[in-house]
Amino acid sequence: MLELLFLLLPVAMGYGWFMGRNSVKQNDHSAKQALSIKYSTGLNYLLSNQQDKAIDYLLEALKVEDDTVEAHFAMANLFRRRGELDRALKVHEHLVRQKHLPAKDKQQAAYELGKDFFSAGLYDRAENMFEKLLKSKHYGLKSLDYLMRIYQSTKDWSKGVSHKKAIVKTKDKKLLHNLANFYCELATSALEQDNFIEVIELLELALTYDANSCRANWLLAQIYEKHQQYNEACRCYQDIYHQDKEFFPDVIDQMQNCYHQLDADDEYFQFIKKVYDETAGSSALIKYLSHIEAKFGKAKAKEFILLALKKRPTIKGFKHFIKMQMLNSTEKDNTENLDMIKELIAAYLNLKPRYSCRTCGFNSSKHYWACPSCHDWEQLKPVRGLEGE
Ligand SMILES: [Zn+2]
Repeated sequence: MLELLFLLLPVAMGYGWFMGRNSVKQNDHSAKQALSIKYSTGLNYLLSNQQDKAIDYLLEALKVEDDTVEAHFAMANLFRRRGELDRALKVHEHLVRQKHLPAKDKQQAAYELGKDFFSAGLYDRAENMFEKLLKSKHYGLKSLDYLMRIYQSTKDWSKGVSHKKAIVKTKDKKLLHNLANFYCELATSALEQDNFIEVIELLELALTYDANSCRANWLLAQIYEKHQQYNEACRCYQDIYHQDKEFFPDVIDQMQNCYHQLDADDEYFQFIKKVYDETAGSSALIKYLSHIEAKFGKAKAKEFILLALKKRPTIKGFKHFIKMQMLNSTEKDNTENLDMIKELIAAYLNLKPRYSCRTCGFNSSKHYWACPSCHDWEQLKPVRGLEGE
């Protein structure tokens, strides 16, 4: 309430100026009186905490002169911040109706009104406002961003990609990244119907708009693998590693299967060694240990894991070490004890989220391409550190 009164101070000054400017015109006298009554009635309602009635009177009394526009915007934004969307909407709609305002103020009013509709979940009305602003110098990019957010919420991927020309023109990395993910969504539907050509075309488009989309390569690998084109699938998995090292642990098993189908296990382990040397991740370590054990024996593998855990301890790595100890142990009691420790660690790890969003910190055991909390694409990645990779 107090914030509102403070906000209305410049409005009141504007109002005083408006009255003073017109005071020479005697025939305006009755109009002035009417405005004066509306203004003081509005303030009375505000003071008696009847905000809706107050807004009606104040909006009518203020008429929106150039120097009161800012106060109107500030008042509406305050309402929106407090979650009073209906009130924010009322003020912004009033501003949109003012035909005499400069173009920039009119566009700002339309943009803010679009944001109100978006926050209220009135997506069709928000879409209508933002579409009108696409050519605006100040609000074009922001409106395009909101339109993509609307299509993401309504899963209207085709409508989103229909804006590709405008998005390319902006050269905005985030929008291009969103566009690539819209193509990935369309490709996922085509993949379900096993429409090979369509999937490839859609994913190539995704990679055109965002060469770093590891999701596009992940989907490409799926369809190649499904059609026994293992060479292509392996190339996609390698690309994923170069695009996003943090996401790579999630494809390590599928990649192994593709190399195995090509009878190229040694080549796979060569690649995994490189991954382990560069990232020291626990998934790559565990994979590489199986190779050391097969090639050089259990003792070498144990030596390797002890050294690795000393350099970079992880609970996942420790669990694997216990498993190795169990397999090597011949004493029944010892095996049972180790099994209990292993089960305890497994239960502990199960309680921990596997993924965390790199944008907002949202944690989840399940992987999502779009973060359920901040809605950013491809930001949920395996957790790093002691309890993760
Ligand atoms: Zn997030």
